[in-house]
Formats: sequence, C-alpha cells, structure tokens
Amino acid sequence: MRTAPVDFSNLCLHTMTTKPWSLTEAIEGYREAGIPAVTVWRQHIEPFGPKKAGTLLRESGLKVVSFCRGGFFPAVTERERSKAVDDNRRAIDEVAEIGAPLLVLVCGAVPGQPLEESRKQVADGIAAILPRAESAGVRLSIEPLHPMYADSRSAVNTLKQANDVVETLGGAGLGVTVDVYHVWWDPDLEREIRRAGANGWLASFHISDWRTPTRDLLNDRALMGEGCIPIRRIRDWVRAAGFTGHDEVELFSDECWSGDQTKVLERIKRAYATCLAE
Ligand code: ZN
Repeated sequence: MRTAPVDFSNLCLHTMTTKPWSLTEAIEGYREAGIPAVTVWRQHIEPFGPKKAGTLLRESGLKVVSFCRGGFFPAVTERERSKAVDDNRRAIDEVAEIGAPLLVLVCGAVPGQPLEESRKQVADGIAAILPRAESAGVRLSIEPLHPMYADSRSAVNTLKQANDVVETLGGAGLGVTVDVYHVWWDPDLEREIRRAGANGWLASFHISDWRTPTRDLLNDRALMGEGCIPIRRIRDWVRAAGFTGHDEVELFSDECWSGDQTKVLERIKRAYATCLAE
C-alpha cells in the first residue's frame, strides 16, 4: 500500500522553536528538513545584524513569513514609553532590512498597573509606530496572549481585544495573529476569527499544544497533538475566514531545546503530518 506524500508546503518554523541553533544553523537545518518558511526572532538576528541576516535569508530560498517581536509598549513613565516606541521603530527598520512583511507585536503590561491603562498605552504605542511601519511596507500584527501573562507580558488577552485595537486604529497596516496556545480556551474565538477574516485582519497563525499539567508557564509548550488544543478545528476556522498563510510552529519548550535539534525537527514534521497536513 502506498501512502500519499505529506505536504509540508504550508509549514513554517519560528527560529525560537530551535532556540539553540544560530540563524545559519536554523537555515541549514530547515532546508535539509524540507521546511519551506521561517519566522525570525530578533535575538537570532542580533549576532549577524539585520543587513547580513537579510542577505543570508534571501540566499537561503526560505520564505520569511514574519519577524518576532515588537511591542512591550506599557511602562510607568512617559520616558520609558517613548523608549519603547523608539525600540519598535528600530525593529521596523530591521524587519524591512531582513525582508519580512510582518512584525508581530507582544503588547506588554506592567505588573500592578491597571490593565485598562496598559491597554490604552498599547493602542497609543501602536499608533505612534504605525506611520513608520507603513512607510517601510511592514504590517503590524497584534498577538493576544493567554491571560496567565496579563501581569507582565500582555494586557491584550483575547482576539476580541486585539480586533478592537485594530478597529480603533482604523485597520490599515494592521492585523492580528491567532496563536492557538493563547486563545484556544476563548468561547468567542470562532466569532472573533470570523470578524477578523471579514475585515482582512488575519495576518498570521501560530501553533503548538497545551500540556496537562503544564510544568512551566513559559517554556513547556507541547508538540501538536500532545496536548488538548483542538488545533485542526481552529485552523479550519481561520481558513474558513479567508486566511491562506502558513502554519507557524512556535514552540517554547525546555524539553525540545535540550535535545538534538535535527531530531526535534523530525518530531515536529511527524506531529504536523498527523495533526494538520492535508
Ligand atoms: Zn505566537
């Protein structure tokens, strides 16, 4: 009996998924594994600088899907907030230089500061960097984070809140990122995916799984199919809403980072094939 070859043409890996690898090792490893696309994290650019990293990426033939990450706008003082805006403007320049079309924003929060205030500062921060993004041809995408990160990483915790920010700012040059790890629990998820799709805001789609019990709040994401997230179902929703982009594997996992990264890629491909490939 012959089985049809698995289609990996829609698969994309975040360089954070193979965190121990340098950018050049990741490029090499992904190409050898037949993974066609990459989302680049800022820390993997840093050792090379954006210009050299851009050259390496263009020469690699890998499609650069997005750049992670900007954001972290809220701060207690005006001075710190304006520093964050400056840093995001620099990030936009780096995104343009490496040839990525999209900058993903993890919006930020300040422990103890009311979430309403942080959300206002997030919207103000995005509004402040939007003109630079537009002139650089870079789209900004707001990624809502699971509420367990509402203290310090993001005051934007649902897709509805992300959609609302995009709507308030007029939508142009903006989008939202649906990361199943962060939003799978949300009873309004399907509706808000439809809303984002109807407005053309679905910018990117991140996948991993939720381990039970989760052993670490940051670095214990599971491979697709090893947890309880209905990933296939959520992807059906984003596709039905008109999203045609990549399935981006974003795996923060001490377990995966501690092993042989080439073997991790094989595990990811198997998990993807079982869980999501056509
Ligand atoms: Zn994500």
